[in-house]
Amino acid sequence: MKKIAIYGKGGIGKSTTVSNLSAAMAAIGLTVLQVGCDPKADSTRNLTGGTSIATVLEILRKSGDVELDDLVVKSSTGVLCVEAGGPVPGVGCAGRGIITAFEKLEELDAYGVYKPDVVLYDVLGDVVCGGFAMPIRGGYADEVCIVTSGEMMSLYAAANIAHAVKSLGKRGYASLRGLILNAKNIEGESELVDKAAAELAAPVIYRLPRDPFVQQAEAQGKTVVEAFPASAMAAHYLALARLLLKGAKTP
Ligand code: ADP
Ligand code: MG
Repeated sequence: MKKIAIYGKGGIGKSTTVSNLSAAMAAIGLTVLQVGCDPKADSTRNLTGGTSIATVLEILRKSGDVELDDLVVKSSTGVLCVEAGGPVPGVGCAGRGIITAFEKLEELDAYGVYKPDVVLYDVLGDVVCGGFAMPIRGGYADEVCIVTSGEMMSLYAAANIAHAVKSLGKRGYASLRGLILNAKNIEGESELVDKAAAELAAPVIYRLPRDPFVQQAEAQGKTVVEAFPASAMAAHYLALARLLLKGAKTP
């Protein structure tokens, strides 16, 4: 079982990237579990026809007596989808919600029952503390990738995430695989990300272009991989999926 956490600033394109990677890996024939770890809870929307599935926290709020099938939704693309969810606004703590969701999945033996080949965690990385650090710290992910554009704020978040992985990594937790550039098409973007990567001593493992097919697929409630399988963008997601599956831990 390969376990990869994809971090990045809010709105940078994590869920788009992760759901397309899940769809690409499922298309290769792998059993994929995607766990949305963002209070926005829209990680898996494009895998489930544009609808929101009930989150682990919502389900637990209704009843403590839950079964695995209540929490894990098998999408039409075959991807197993989970949304950790978030607290009621103003009450509780988003990070704590992720911890609760992880504990419940483990308690119900989600990994043993579904036996996924790949688990992808889609994690909000604006602050890397408490529950948001769980995929790195709790032994959940082996590798961490950071989605970023060349914009200052997303590079700032990337640096924070990289530092968290490196300091926690000393204790044998997840390692930093590298950065995924998700282009916003700002001037000199590739070079800006190269420079940031060099400072973090992490490679840029892939450069995803900005592509209008992403919005068109989204409007259909689908991933690009599902809606436009013959497109160049789908080929990019498939290439990134294959790269991540190779698993060679880049230094
Ligand atoms: P996050 O999960 O990081 O908050 P999303 O994946 O929801 O971000 O992406 C935010 C928006 O950016 C989405 O509406 C999506 O359509 C758009 N987007 C993401 N990646 C691309 C891309 N490569 N090309 C075009 N639009 C993109
Ligand atoms: Mg998201």
